[in-house]
Amino acid sequence: MMIILFIILIFVMYLFIYDDIKYDGSENKLKDKCWQCGSKINKDYDRCPKCKVELRKKCDKCGNMIDVCWRKCPYC
Ligand SMILES: [Zn+2]
Ligand SMILES: [Zn+2]
Repeated sequence: MMIILFIILIFVMYLFIYDDIKYDGSENKLKDKCWQCGSKINKDYDRCPKCKVELRKKCDKCGNMIDVCWRKCPYC
């Protein structure tokens, strides 16, 4: 019985470590993911197709579409 528990523990730990590695590898691809639900999105999407959160908004000054996470518009 103890052996089974041990194997499950190792398996769970492996999953956690594997998740960390996966996360590190995709960190620079963060813009291809929805900031809210994490589902994959196309860069030219204005809204997430899964959770419908706004991904881009119109700049008040110049009217260009900018990422909602950006604090300043790079176009103006
Ligand atoms: Zn989403
Ligand atoms: Zn602007």
